[in-house]
Amino acid sequence: MPDLTLKVTVTGLIQGVGFRPFVYRIALRYKLKGWVRNTNENVQIRISGKSPDLNGFLSALKTEAPQAASVESIQTEEIQFEKFATFEILKSHDVSDDITEISPDIAVCEECLEDICKAGNRLDYAFVNCTNCGPRFTIIKDLPYDRPLTTMAEFQMCADCRREYETVTDRRFHAQPVACAVCGPQYELHAGKKPVINDISVILERSSELIDKGGILVMKGLGGMHLACDAFNETSVARLRELKNREGKPFAIMFRDLSSAAKYAEINSAEEVSLTSWRRPIILLQVKNRSHGPFLAKNLNSGLNLLGIMLPYMPFHYQLFRKLKTEALVLTSGNFSSEPIIIDNAEALEKFSPITDAVMLHNRDIFNRTDDSVARIIGGKERVFRRSRGYVPSPIRTGLNTEGIIAFGAELSNCFCVGKGSKAFLSQHIGDLQGLETTLFYDQTLERFIRLFRVRPTLLAADMHPDYISTRTAEGFGTPSLIRIQHHHAHIASCMAENKLDEKLIGVAFDGTGYGDDGNTWGSEFMVCDLEGYSRASHLAYLPLPGGDSASEEPWRMAVSWLYKVYGREFMQLDLPLFWQTQAEVIQMLVKMIDRKVNCPLTCGAGRYFDAVASILGLCQVAEFPAQGPMLLEAMVEAGCDERYEWSGLTEIDLDKTLRGIVEDIKNGNRHSIIISKFHNTISSVIFETVKWISGAEGLKKVVLSGGVFQNKYLLERTESLLVKSGLEVFTHAAVPTNDGGIALGQLAVAAKRRELCV
Ligand code: ZN
Ligand code: ZN
Ligand code: FE
Repeated sequence: MPDLTLKVTVTGLIQGVGFRPFVYRIALRYKLKGWVRNTNENVQIRISGKSPDLNGFLSALKTEAPQAASVESIQTEEIQFEKFATFEILKSHDVSDDITEISPDIAVCEECLEDICKAGNRLDYAFVNCTNCGPRFTIIKDLPYDRPLTTMAEFQMCADCRREYETVTDRRFHAQPVACAVCGPQYELHAGKKPVINDISVILERSSELIDKGGILVMKGLGGMHLACDAFNETSVARLRELKNREGKPFAIMFRDLSSAAKYAEINSAEEVSLTSWRRPIILLQVKNRSHGPFLAKNLNSGLNLLGIMLPYMPFHYQLFRKLKTEALVLTSGNFSSEPIIIDNAEALEKFSPITDAVMLHNRDIFNRTDDSVARIIGGKERVFRRSRGYVPSPIRTGLNTEGIIAFGAELSNCFCVGKGSKAFLSQHIGDLQGLETTLFYDQTLERFIRLFRVRPTLLAADMHPDYISTRTAEGFGTPSLIRIQHHHAHIASCMAENKLDEKLIGVAFDGTGYGDDGNTWGSEFMVCDLEGYSRASHLAYLPLPGGDSASEEPWRMAVSWLYKVYGREFMQLDLPLFWQTQAEVIQMLVKMIDRKVNCPLTCGAGRYFDAVASILGLCQVAEFPAQGPMLLEAMVEAGCDERYEWSGLTEIDLDKTLRGIVEDIKNGNRHSIIISKFHNTISSVIFETVKWISGAEGLKKVVLSGGVFQNKYLLERTESLLVKSGLEVFTHAAVPTNDGGIALGQLAVAAKRRELCV
């Protein structure tokens, strides 16, 4: 049998995830000769050998790739026979400005977990990692991804680690953060005035005891500090709320393992895949109704039926759970209210020592701060709501020329985005750009992304809102061309870019608030649009929002405004739960504000209508965290209810009959869960009928759904299925947040398209 030579080209996220050593190992296994190397855009392989061996190699290439590698394509071509003496890894080719892909952080792998149970340099060593796992983005200061440019630079590899690092067949070949107990980072435990503890077994002993006794522990993690306590201990959870100054916002929980989690939450197969993936996000899961204990603390998620659950991802998490009696920890970001997660050791000691029971730090610096990512499975697909650890900085591949574009994002749940080639690099979740600390984090991260990805800014894109910090940052940036993009057009464009759509279609953006062309607050937009521009085809009717922005935290204001519009002054005579909870004088004051048009901007935000219903039913008058009202409503939807309320209108949708129906149902003593289901079904019907009308009028068949309201599983699944059944093609978000965290990608896509059309 003659020898053949193949030219193999692999594209995707394959750099910094142990892909070349993997290729080397499978080439050796099949006794093939040739080489592998990285280039700007791909990994190239030349390989010579017998046909069956080559086939074995190619199938291993497809099926055995390292878990964090995401292979997009493998092209194979037979070329003229070349004779090679060995198989080797060649030096990277064209290490130029264009090598831009950096792996996100990867959860510790099974083999490394086994290593910490074996005698030797890694017995009980909590910083074990290999080419298949460990820290990446959080420790990278600059490219190329090499140890001297990471926060591991200060640790001198010992002879053993160096040998593994240099041995091509070793699992730690070119694992930049390679370390062992002799040469690598170490944990340290600070408990009050007692001497600092450095011995890992003592640290594990003390921290597990402390948590099991109800204490609160600060734990330095991959992307920042965590605050941890026993998730079964209501007193500890209450204390944690108090010290974080966080009233009702749900806490995330880390379970010991999948089977522990499955005792407390419903987990389907798609949810299991996400929970156990190397990205290890927090997955929002339905809580089980347990008839017998133990019970998770009631104050974890204040009446919601969803719980954010994750599994261990650092070696230390596994080690700690081996000692702990409890099988679940609250694990929440180490920060105060809306400030960014703390990453600095000195700052953590200063701020947390006085108010927690112990602070556990390590001496590997965190360079890039990342929070735990949050996702939910809707319609069988993972939908990322907060994109950070494990996801960032993987690029979104667009079909557009994004080179040199910087998109500054929105105001709340901010992420920004930079363009390189046709890729879009979304930043990690930055947070709400209203506090000084968060704004500093934003500025710093923006500067780092521009440097890291070698971006030469040529075009800027920002929201139209004149008061957004992100818009002001763009204005002060010093690059001449700045495009302002309407918030909901950006939402729709974000979903288009994620789905690689570049054509005229129907866009639906259901959202909280966004600045509209007419100066009003938009948020229930039906657009006929493409990436370049849009026309607004329909929206929910405007209502005055007494108090403006502050009203979005006080659902009762929207409820009063809507009731007043529909019933006039008589509305105070209705017998509604809202009135049992709110003083009549305060309501009268609000009515006066509306009459005199004092601080009453007009809004059509769909989220505000959900707020109003939550308030009328007495579920939420003043929200303890964003979207609490809508989340409480969704928690009460009853499957199997197919009824809905009446509504009317084409270009402006009037929900007055819906409100009358709700009030009528309350008067008749109908169950709240039925009223809530009917309201959800009404909104779904509004979207379905309006899209169908636009589709008929415009001859368009593709529909894009975006905006924070579509985080609602019931609403998204029902609406999508109605639209699909009527023959429309529906596109939604998955990898990019449907909330304002995804806005920057849309801004970037619109800017890219407008630039392309100008040239
Ligand atoms: Zn590993
Ligand atoms: Zn070592
Ligand atoms: Fe929005």
